[in-house]
Amino acid sequence: MVPCAYCEKPLICEECGAEFVPPTDEHYRALSEPGRTIECPECGEVLVCHWCKAPYAASDEEEPWAD
Ligand SMILES: [Zn+2]
Ligand SMILES: [Zn+2]
Repeated sequence: MVPCAYCEKPLICEECGAEFVPPTDEHYRALSEPGRTIECPECGEVLVCHWCKAPYAASDEEEPWAD
């Protein structure tokens, strides 16, 4: 399994519930680089962590999970 970069729980897609498995080394590296957009290989949506709701998206202008 791959841990979420934000909460370190197993990374699961909020959209479809699939466990995220990086299909390529590029995807794996992107996980540790803030500002990279990662799409779920299963549903094609931008990956959002099921646990902490953090989106793996390029835009950092919105932080809906911050309080
Ligand atoms: Zn998370
Ligand atoms: Zn998905």
